[in-house]
Amino acid sequence: MAILDKEHLRANLDKVIWNIEEARISVSEHHIVQLVAVGKYTEVENIETLYSLGQRAFGENQVQQLKERMATLEELPLQWQMIGTLQKNKINHLIDLHPTLMQSLDSLALAQELNKKLEAKESKMDCLLQINAANEATKSGFNSQEAYDMYQQIKESCPHINLKGVMTIGAHSEDTKLIQQSFETTHAIYEKLQKEGATLCSMGMSNDYPLAIKCGSNLVRVGSALFK
Ligand SMILES: *Cc1c(COP(=O)(O)O)cnc(C)c1O
Repeated sequence: MAILDKEHLRANLDKVIWNIEEARISVSEHHIVQLVAVGKYTEVENIETLYSLGQRAFGENQVQQLKERMATLEELPLQWQMIGTLQKNKINHLIDLHPTLMQSLDSLALAQELNKKLEAKESKMDCLLQINAANEATKSGFNSQEAYDMYQQIKESCPHINLKGVMTIGAHSEDTKLIQQSFETTHAIYEKLQKEGATLCSMGMSNDYPLAIKCGSNLVRVGSALFK
């Protein structure tokens, strides 16, 4: 990890924005894509610099790091998102941070526990349902067969969780076809859920965000391509 100078970060950001632009225009002029910068591999100073270049949404995959960075940069009007696996003993900490979005709701048990603790704190949280689209043993999330029904069930039984859509991590593979398939599977579920008000389809990281956008993603989570 190193502190990067502003011109270096500007060049990285320009490149990512350009790639997003190219991919989204190939879908439709009206297809808008949100960029969430993932800071987990970088120094907080670089997040601050990226803010000065216009970036507003940032994601972290650990509650502790999210908390520290929110505190360090509390003067800045940033939108903070949780994108990593949430351990049950960290739920209350996360609620107190009031993240803009929690992208990694990955089990029914977690949803129920989160809902209970939100209720106790008279709070609500915007969340995405994490889908394990390639059914990989190493990944958490709902498998693609159960995702739609689980979304309905959580919506009905967890009134303190506002479900806003879905999130997936592309298949871990060298084979572009497999990665594309995992995005298409997730997007098909999203399309069904759009009829019920879902608005966010979070897919795409540094190695695959242009492909994810072409498959319909409207939120990409990019870390290393920005902070390399
Ligand atoms: C780390 C991480 C990212 C960003 O990964 P890069 O490959 O560095 O862009 C995106 N999403 C999640 C869930 C992550 O944990």
